[in-house]
Amino acid sequence: MTSPTFDFDLFVIGGGSGGVRAARMAAQRGARVALAETLGADGLGGTCVNVGCIPKKLYSYAAHYADAFHESAGFGWELASAPRLNWATLKANRATEISRLNGVYGNLLRGSGVTVLDGFARIQAEHSVGLATINTDGSPGHQNFTAKHILIATGGTPHVPHFVGREHVITSNEIFDLEPFPQRLLVVGGGYIACEFASIFNGLGSKVTQLYRGEQVLRGFDDEVRHFVAAEMTKSGVDLRLNADVVDIRQTDEGLRVELEGGSVVLADAVLYATGRKPNVTGLGLDTVGVAQGAQGEVIVSDTYQTNVPSIYAVGDVTNRVQLTPVALGEAMVVVDQLFGSAAGKPVREMSYDFIPTAVFTHPNIGTVGFSEAQAREKFGEVTVFRSEFKALKHTLSGSSERTLMKLIVDTASDRVVGLHMVGSEAGEIVQGFAVAMKAGATKAVFDSTIGIHPTAAEEFVTLREPVKS
Ligand code: FAD
Ligand code: NDP
Repeated sequence: MTSPTFDFDLFVIGGGSGGVRAARMAAQRGARVALAETLGADGLGGTCVNVGCIPKKLYSYAAHYADAFHESAGFGWELASAPRLNWATLKANRATEISRLNGVYGNLLRGSGVTVLDGFARIQAEHSVGLATINTDGSPGHQNFTAKHILIATGGTPHVPHFVGREHVITSNEIFDLEPFPQRLLVVGGGYIACEFASIFNGLGSKVTQLYRGEQVLRGFDDEVRHFVAAEMTKSGVDLRLNADVVDIRQTDEGLRVELEGGSVVLADAVLYATGRKPNVTGLGLDTVGVAQGAQGEVIVSDTYQTNVPSIYAVGDVTNRVQLTPVALGEAMVVVDQLFGSAAGKPVREMSYDFIPTAVFTHPNIGTVGFSEAQAREKFGEVTVFRSEFKALKHTLSGSSERTLMKLIVDTASDRVVGLHMVGSEAGEIVQGFAVAMKAGATKAVFDSTIGIHPTAAEEFVTLREPVKS
């Protein structure tokens, strides 16, 4: 399996979710592995750990305390004084935790025998990678390596469209360390990042305006879920403006003056652009070796993540498919199994893109797996829809007007549950378990015969009896 002709059996470019997993697992199978990360040891973990899933979820927890403090009065708690966010403390504690995780990733890699390299990697030939480094005296350095296989796992980077005043905006990369705390935040976009940060900063105490260019946020999600979460976010204080877009942004004495199409103006302390991400391929040398790319620059791969250059593979966001950490991890495992053998007694893994569960950490959360109602109707023809909307037990005393939505889509012919959607507290936690059942092909009859856990919101998914009239 190992090849003495090359310096390494596998050279991984990028120390994010996909790269770290592939490097570590390949090394554990006996391969000689190097991993290069531009940001060095401090960047290990990539987007998810440094400027994505983890810090985002920590800030989401922080934002939820605002509701918790407020709602506690209904349960008899009396607060000695009004709670107040110390933004500096939150940022510092987050930074400490992220540094700890960077260290954990470094230890895991080195403990598995991976050579961790600090620098920007560029593919020079089918089996050759150059690494641009910085010497200890600050001067630029360069190293060359050969490898039997090269794995591109360079992720993505925020994309901001061109307009006058673009230099005044920030992206999700900068929001975590924003200084000072934005009392007025304008969020542009209607996808995962825009909706999550609108909710988070609304919870933390900013006055949030969110602009989305289309009819409703979260295109691609179940329509009812989209409308429901938009209504809940609006109720909780987000000023959500649909069919709205920015014309230009100017710095004034009153803050950033954002002119919208139609002439209205929003004043903000910070403007977050969350308008999608582009694959990280600049300077990677793909054209040098002729690796095929798509319209957005994404690396085109086969079902087994091999590019058109047989020694070069790619996984994760750089392939611009499903941009989720667990997907990048799954794809990395497929590559490792193929190249270095599967774990003892296990078959070589395959990746299925069916029934990938996902959560949007809006307040309240969205949890979803399978098809939206519209997608299911298109795919299966006749579907039966079950739906429940209610006020969670907690909110009978909390005073909150937050409501929960649960929805099941059933393929009428086979009785299989093909879509499960929730907007409500801890929807991500709840939907993960149901995703296992759906992956296993659970029918509505199986849901019906499952005993609920009482009193929970989740039990509603196994007690939905009356279909919605079509
Ligand atoms: P990345 O994690 O982006 O790693 C790529 C690494 O490659 C980076 O560290 C980069 O520095 C390095 N690199 C790039 N070019 C080079 C080069 N030439 N040489 C050396 N190194 C290089 N997903 C979820 O599942 N759940 C969430 O809650 C979630 N929240 C998110 C929140 C935000 C704000 C964002 C932006 C993303 C979120 N995601 C979430 C998506 C998730 O972070 C990505 O899908 C995941 O990180 C992709 O992993 P990856 O390995 O493809 O790339
Ligand atoms: P998304 O693709 O989810 O959303 C981009 C948004 O920006 C869409 O609403 C899009 O509108 C809008 N947009 C695109 N271009 C423009 C433009 N020129 N002007 C105005 N609006 C524009 O991207 P995100 O950046 O939010 O997130 C990237 C990916 O990261 C997600 O798709 C997801 O896979 C992952 N992620 C996952 C999270 C999770 O698992 N909880 C959290 C955060 C990110 P339109 O719909 O009209 O095209």
